[in-house]
Amino acid sequence: MTYRVTLIPGDGIGPELAEATTRVLDATGIEFEWESVVAGEAAIEHHGTPLPEGVLESIRRTKVGLKGPITTPVGGGFRSVNVGLRQALGLYANLRPARSMQGVESRYEGIDLVIVRENTEDLYAGIEHMVGPDAAESIKIITRAASERIARFAFEYAVANGRHKVTAVHKANIMKLSDGLFLESCRTVAAEYEGRVGFEDRIVDNMCMQLVQKPELYDVLVLPNLYGDIVSDLAAGLVGGLGVAPGANIGIDAAVFEPVHGSAPKYAGLDKANPTAMILSGALMLRHLRHPAEADRLEAAVREVIAEGRSTTYDLGGSTGTAGFADAVIARLRTTVGGRQG
Ligand code: NAD
Repeated sequence: MTYRVTLIPGDGIGPELAEATTRVLDATGIEFEWESVVAGEAAIEHHGTPLPEGVLESIRRTKVGLKGPITTPVGGGFRSVNVGLRQALGLYANLRPARSMQGVESRYEGIDLVIVRENTEDLYAGIEHMVGPDAAESIKIITRAASERIARFAFEYAVANGRHKVTAVHKANIMKLSDGLFLESCRTVAAEYEGRVGFEDRIVDNMCMQLVQKPELYDVLVLPNLYGDIVSDLAAGLVGGLGVAPGANIGIDAAVFEPVHGSAPKYAGLDKANPTAMILSGALMLRHLRHPAEADRLEAAVREVIAEGRSTTYDLGGSTGTAGFADAVIARLRTTVGGRQG
């Protein structure tokens, strides 16, 4: 079977990372046909918008996108492509695993967390207004439907990936109605999984302190949009930063996989940037396509190359380029059982 995947190389370092990532994914033994489309700065030049309709049409058709980072023009009046994609395609769940890697400097070892962030509502609904000249109001929207949907996603992820516990994160002691509804929705869904997946809840400020003090106590976290944004960066920090942090935006009909980091324009075209986060986003895509064995093999190959330390990029203390790192991962994949030879 050949998978047709929409490829959005993106801006800055994006095209180099996309090239490295597609080469690595092609070496897993799974057949891909990459449908490359342009979004971001180059699209503004040719289409007058950073998110042309053709990009959305392609993902609606293929149902799977692999995306490089996109520069958000400052003051150009354009919406963020990332927010636009999530809203247009209903990508309601943002999934960010954070796992320690030997060879990546960090203050912690043995971290293995999965952050599940609600992607469609909360203060990101963008409903803001001035109340007279000296006060502003932003409206926080939390619905039972979206809260139960994201909680169910977290529990289903836990079941499918052999995880043991889901922790709901909230501030229901203060926002008794909105966060209270989020927590109540999580509890309702948790009851369906009783005996299979554990459940507990934490107040967000306490959660941040505990993640810094005893991260090993936590497994899968489910959060409303804004807390999810903040806590997922905290989790990335626990394992060595954005260069190795993969992500996925998943909806009912489509999913888009992308690194957490941005387009790092100062490294564009220099063959310097680390493709790890985008390659690991590709591994999340393999899991989504129900190829867990190939995803495991790819993640192991990346980990082994980084742990060995002979072929790492500048940010991990090495001097190998983007393409060279991909070559090392491909060589490692070919030495493992089941890898495509030659
Ligand atoms: P950035 O992530 O691009 O860069 C932050 C720092 O991390 C820089 O020092 C950069 O050199 C380094 N870095 C990032 N990725 C790296 C990699 N793969 N390998 C090695 N080093 C890496 O963040 P920024 O500078 O705040 O943003 C630049 C642009 O990217 C902005 O226009 C921003 O809006 C956009 N952005 C896009 C996304 C996305 O498309 N998902 C996410 C974040 C930022």
